[in-house]
Amino acid sequence: MSLSPIQRVSFAGRSFFLKRDDLLHPHLSGNKARKFHFLQDLSKIKEIHSFGSLHSNAMYSLSFLAKSKGKTFIYYARSDPSLHNPKGNLKGALENGMILRPLEEWPYGKELSHLIFIDDRLYIPEGGRCPEAQEGIAILAKEIEEWVKKEQKSPKIFLPSGTGTTALFLQKYLPFPVYTIPCVGDEEYLGEQFVALDPTAPCPIILSPPKKYRFGRLYLELFELWRELKKQTDVTFDLLYDPIGFATLLYHDLLDEDLLYIHQGGLMGNETMIERYKAKLDKIAKTNKGAV
Ligand SMILES: *Cc1c(COP(=O)(O)O)cnc(C)c1O
Repeated sequence: MSLSPIQRVSFAGRSFFLKRDDLLHPHLSGNKARKFHFLQDLSKIKEIHSFGSLHSNAMYSLSFLAKSKGKTFIYYARSDPSLHNPKGNLKGALENGMILRPLEEWPYGKELSHLIFIDDRLYIPEGGRCPEAQEGIAILAKEIEEWVKKEQKSPKIFLPSGTGTTALFLQKYLPFPVYTIPCVGDEEYLGEQFVALDPTAPCPIILSPPKKYRFGRLYLELFELWRELKKQTDVTFDLLYDPIGFATLLYHDLLDEDLLYIHQGGLMGNETMIERYKAKLDKIAKTNKGAV
């Protein structure tokens, strides 16, 4: 894995630092490249099994890894209408040969947080939530430490969480405070995820977003924030996690020169989100016209 650059960017009149993990790999970008770093040697494995949503970045990353190593990838998910016209992560994963099975056929609990290796089959928990993920995240921590030494900083790190795997292991390997927010579930749920994954590791600091955002739901103010981010920083962020991240940083006034924001990739998922936002905006425009 090559080193990802760190750059200074400005937003809303403040400057901060950005770790560009989105540039790590065209198909395995961001934190999935880090979390799935342990899957380099698949010589004893024929099939990779995992489960989650049909829009997941982890799903696409695993489909790519399996294909590039000549393995079968089987994914358990709840059927949804997007299957009729796959786009983004789902389209890419199907093109990579992903085999879909009903979610009910996933043989383990949904809260599984370790790998299961049976015969030549490897079962990976949702979103890669397993101790082995720390292997690649330790490399990310090392890159950050080297930058800190060179720049003589005393930074605070920020990244939005899904399962919390990346934030937890980053805090485990870094002597600086790691801040995060729950994008899936609430603060309490994220805290429980940390403990389930590694009861002895120090926990990252969980910040509360300015309001409750339901994961995957559309919020026009978040879309506006995402567009403003692109305009002011010239960087494309992800639409599921990053806008909640920046809304929270602005709300808690944490955006400054000491902040290192981890860009965790996920841009393939943007396609479907942008489409849904455009449809919503069109509908609003039509309704407004009707009202005049
Ligand atoms: C998967 C993902 C996350 C969540 O990572 P966790 O380790 O599950 O907390 C955040 N941002 C992006 C862009 C992702 O793809």
